[in-house]
Amino acid sequence: MKNWAENVSWTPSEIVYPTEEDAIQQLVLRAANSCKKIRVMGTGHSFTALCHTNDILVSLDKYQGIISVDKERCQASVKAGTKLNLLGDLLFKEGMAMENLGDIDVQSIAGTISTGTHGTGKAFGTISTQVIALKFVNGKGEIVECSASKKPELFKAAQVSLGALGIITSITLQCVPSHKLFLQNRKEPLDAVLSNLDSYNEQNRNFEFYWLPYTETAWTKTTNIVEQDEPDKINFFNYWSEYVIENYSFKLLCEIARLFPSQNERVSKIAAASIGNVEKVYHSHKIYATKRLVKFTEMEYNIPAEAYQDAFSEMRKKIDTKQFNIHFPIENRWVKGDDILMSPAYGRDSAYIACHVYNKKNNQPYFEALEQIFRAYGGRPHWGKMNTLSSKDLADLYPQFATFAKHRQEQDPEKVFVTPYLEKLLGV
Ligand SMILES: Cc1cc2nc3c(=O)[nH]c(=O)nc-3n(C[C@H](O)[C@H](O)[C@H](O)COP(=O)(O)OP(=O)(O)OC[C@H]3O[C@@H](n4cnc5c(N)ncnc54)[C@H](O)[C@@H]3O)c2cc1C
Repeated sequence: MKNWAENVSWTPSEIVYPTEEDAIQQLVLRAANSCKKIRVMGTGHSFTALCHTNDILVSLDKYQGIISVDKERCQASVKAGTKLNLLGDLLFKEGMAMENLGDIDVQSIAGTISTGTHGTGKAFGTISTQVIALKFVNGKGEIVECSASKKPELFKAAQVSLGALGIITSITLQCVPSHKLFLQNRKEPLDAVLSNLDSYNEQNRNFEFYWLPYTETAWTKTTNIVEQDEPDKINFFNYWSEYVIENYSFKLLCEIARLFPSQNERVSKIAAASIGNVEKVYHSHKIYATKRLVKFTEMEYNIPAEAYQDAFSEMRKKIDTKQFNIHFPIENRWVKGDDILMSPAYGRDSAYIACHVYNKKNNQPYFEALEQIFRAYGGRPHWGKMNTLSSKDLADLYPQFATFAKHRQEQDPEKVFVTPYLEKLLGV
């Protein structure tokens, strides 16, 4: 098995594709009785060893779809293996949509929430905040249900759980009525964007930007709701920009920069010159996601929103020393704080800075240098992305770390879901 980025590979002794909740329960009991480990894989889009196991790997690819819908409350219960793109289509048929999404839509809903995956928009929390109830099979083979009113503290642990409490089987989402979004991508001077961050964030439903290293160029992305009868706007230029410029041409540039590291700066400047302004209007579930055909490794840190400018400026100075073999754009997003025990946005409105390296290049010097900067600002790593932190570091960063550990112990005392990577993160 390999993850998407192909930086983690492993050989499970068994791969199981259950189709019923009952089969998931039996599987956990069998593993517990034979002292085997289980990890669930959504789509393997995490950059770390979260899904790695030499024992049993579970895929819920055959456990997808909507279980029930409450149209009045705009809520839907879905099978945990459902992929976000399928989920978007199914919800759309019911006149509903997810309130916010990240920038791809191929992940499973359970994998998405288990790592605190997020989009952007200062009014929106991580995608886990859209969850209002959960069901999972714990390490003792028990089916556990929790929500804000039923076992509320366990629910707060289960909303971002790294697969450490058990196998999530169903997720109830608070959705919103389906709506159309107007997306705008603009090439703008970096300093102007940095000076106007507050107004960008205030005036747009969703705002993010990419900085192209060694340049003064930012590529901003905003989305805002428009009327349902607003004509769709998707044209050949959108296709050209998304597939040809952002993927095929970019892949060629990545190869040039890999073969000739002295050309990193030129490659970033060519990328900055090639990007243009893009506009699209369409239903929300088809607007957020982009195609990612060029493989990379990634480190992303959550920074307290008020520390963002200083952290960015320090990072920029470091990158401007040109000591790293990199050229990938750096992504900057904003997320509302929440009260989920292991959410990187726990207790604070946050900014996220994401750094990428072409997956055929060594990311270590770059990630190490930037991680030091982010950590100095109280940064917490995205659970699905690369970092070097240990349980001790994480315990200092997460005020509710011990509460989560207590729930993990109660739900999985025999450590059926604990593999060496989980041990390193959670210290169990
Ligand atoms: C190209 C790319 C773009 C990305 N864009 C974004 C982005 O915009 N925003 C962002 O925040 N992140 C982003 N990510 C990270 C990604 O969203 C997360 O890593 C996410 O967890 C991947 O979902 P998955 O279904 O592939 O889960 P996996 O990576 O397969 O698993 C992640 C974790 O979830 C657990 N898990 C999966 N299913 C279950 C279950 N049923 N029960 C219990 N545990 C389970 C796994 O055991 C594992 O611990 C991106 C990643 C890539 C590769």
